[in-house]
Amino acid sequence: MARSFDVVVIGGGAAGLMCALTAGQRGRRVLLVEHANRVGKKILMSGGGRCNFTNTGTSPANYLSANPHFCKSALARYTPADFIAMVERHGIAYHEKELGQLFCDESSKLIVRMLVDECSAAGVDIQTGCSVESVSQGDGGFQLRTSIGSVSSPSLVVASGGLSIPSMGATGFGYQLAQQFGHQLLPTRAGLVPLTLSGKHQQRFADLSGLSLPVQARCGKQSFRNFMLVTHRGISGPAILQISSYWQAGDDLRLDLLPGEDALAWLLEQQRQRPAAELKTVLAEALPKRFAQRLCEVWLPNRPIRQFNQPQLREVASLLQAFPLVASGTEGYRTAEVTLGGVDTDGISSSTLQSKNVPGLFFIGEVVDVTGWLGGYNFQWAWASGHAAGQAV
Ligand code: FAD
Repeated sequence: MARSFDVVVIGGGAAGLMCALTAGQRGRRVLLVEHANRVGKKILMSGGGRCNFTNTGTSPANYLSANPHFCKSALARYTPADFIAMVERHGIAYHEKELGQLFCDESSKLIVRMLVDECSAAGVDIQTGCSVESVSQGDGGFQLRTSIGSVSSPSLVVASGGLSIPSMGATGFGYQLAQQFGHQLLPTRAGLVPLTLSGKHQQRFADLSGLSLPVQARCGKQSFRNFMLVTHRGISGPAILQISSYWQAGDDLRLDLLPGEDALAWLLEQQRQRPAAELKTVLAEALPKRFAQRLCEVWLPNRPIRQFNQPQLREVASLLQAFPLVASGTEGYRTAEVTLGGVDTDGISSSTLQSKNVPGLFFIGEVVDVTGWLGGYNFQWAWASGHAAGQAV
């Protein structure tokens, strides 16, 4: 005999927990199933263990999606202020790190505990270590065969996340379910992920591993100004993670190594002030010394700066402001913070996250083709989409 609920939520991550507690608060009988041994594993590891739980500057412009308008409705109805109010109600201390990014003072565990407490107070039945074997649809709604027996419900919420960090429980289950019910999928790829270099490009950077410098990373019309970190296999750091979501193999990727500076004006001023200094010494004023040295070993001629005429200085300036970075790929889902692409928003209502063709079926969070920038935007999408569905189930 199947146990029956009003709502079954598949996936106990950020979106699933928010949806479950919202539906529970509305008096719905909710079962949340999570196949890992605990809920909220990604929340726990997020933000270096302190969970960058939202961004006060969240706007639809901070998201990538084939339909950039899709996220507007849910984001407008559950805002960062709404989540902050819950955090404050639970007495969780937090701070702004930079650019509107809010982090817990202590630990991400507090955010998971808050969500679980809210679920308990709302009567949500949370089953961890429970995997869903199959889903079918009949007269009474959805029937699920799970490792803890059969369950049925008129509403089914798919909150199973994307493919990033498989070791944390990520599966393609949500995508399979979407296809089973006739939804289109947009191609998925790793986002917010370090880029790899290969061959001579890697060799030129490999021994600089550990160096960090501010850059403006540019791909097409998108650019991000923040730090870049040289790693053993390539490059990472916030500027690179951000641009990685916009970059695809073969795309032109440029770095402004003197962000916010007019490089030519700066070089001319240096030439006037210290004509006998070699270029590598001059560059080491603005860049890490070893990086400046490497630029002058591989890409730029090193001689006293007075020996550069203006066209030559202009060439130096353009290399500094549009340094071509030849990435070979990304580190992939193993280290990616998010998965781009996923369930096509065309088949889903933007206000309720309900399937347009299968009444009672909902898709929320990262499984949907909505991906945020680095900086708390992905959790804000999870909260907002989870809340929208939780209000509708
Ligand atoms: P998830 O959190 O991935 O949850 C999906 C859940 O479904 C998982 O618990 C999974 O085990 C479960 N599941 C999967 N398949 C099944 C199945 N078949 N049956 C049952 N359960 C299943 N975003 C931010 O905004 N701020 C940050 O600080 C931040 N830091 C991050 C750090 C790291 C290392 C990573 C990887 C991501 C980070 N993110 C951050 C992104 C953020 O974690 C995700 O965008 C967010 O967790 C997505 O929420 P979700 O609920 O859709 O998916």
